[in-house]
Amino acid sequence: MTMFPFTIKVTNQSVERLCRITSQNRQQNLDVDVQMLLHQCEIHQLHALSHSTRRHLRFEILNEAQEHAYQAFLLFLRSIAESEVFLPTDLLNRYPHRQYCLLMSPNRSRELFDVYNINGRHSQRLVTYIDYELIVEARPQLLDTEAYLVAPSKYTLFIRQVNEANTIDVYRSDFIDLAVSTPPPLDLHAQDVIDTIQHSFETEFDESPRWRQLLMFPISQETENSAKLSKCPKCDGQIQRIGEDSYFCLDCDWDNLQPLR
Ligand SMILES: [Zn+2]
Repeated sequence: MTMFPFTIKVTNQSVERLCRITSQNRQQNLDVDVQMLLHQCEIHQLHALSHSTRRHLRFEILNEAQEHAYQAFLLFLRSIAESEVFLPTDLLNRYPHRQYCLLMSPNRSRELFDVYNINGRHSQRLVTYIDYELIVEARPQLLDTEAYLVAPSKYTLFIRQVNEANTIDVYRSDFIDLAVSTPPPLDLHAQDVIDTIQHSFETEFDESPRWRQLLMFPISQETENSAKLSKCPKCDGQIQRIGEDSYFCLDCDWDNLQPLR
């Protein structure tokens, strides 16, 4: 399962009106355009297809759009992440957050876990270092030199699907920082991350039990207010999730997506 370091929300509005709490605890109104073309799928005679085929296509295209969104997110990260050493505790200690996503290439993530698991650990996903939990995301689009640290769900992306005569178009917004009380994304060196983790074990004498404790709990980046569905409320069937809080049923025609326009 792919875990996204940003939140996707499916909308049917071309402009989303939001209220953001700033770091000074003030409310700020924000109009977010959802008008950048993210993904376009050509389908001839869309109107002539059956209802269920159209419905199936719609979800398939939304799923594809999530992958495109991830690529856009990586480009965005490259342009805004601040260059840092691993792990800049002086900077991070100014924030209450202790859980971060660490994005690396698949090669580098493997190397990292080879080093990390050397003392009998079997993690493929989570590195705990000092007081921080790092959820490692292997992304093939990243170079072996790259590594990015970003607070989970710091950014929110709105996506919107529109049926045209012969295409289904998916539009996106900018990546909106709705968690301004989290640090900026950091641009790290993959080798620096691996070397630092490795070095920390060479100087580690007692095995802290803390990481064991942490590993017993599944890592979740869900916000508390998003009710999670595990089965279809209509037929108890299997459901598929799209974005943060949108679902559709694989067995019947139930979904909670916004109607298309
Ligand atoms: Zn159902």
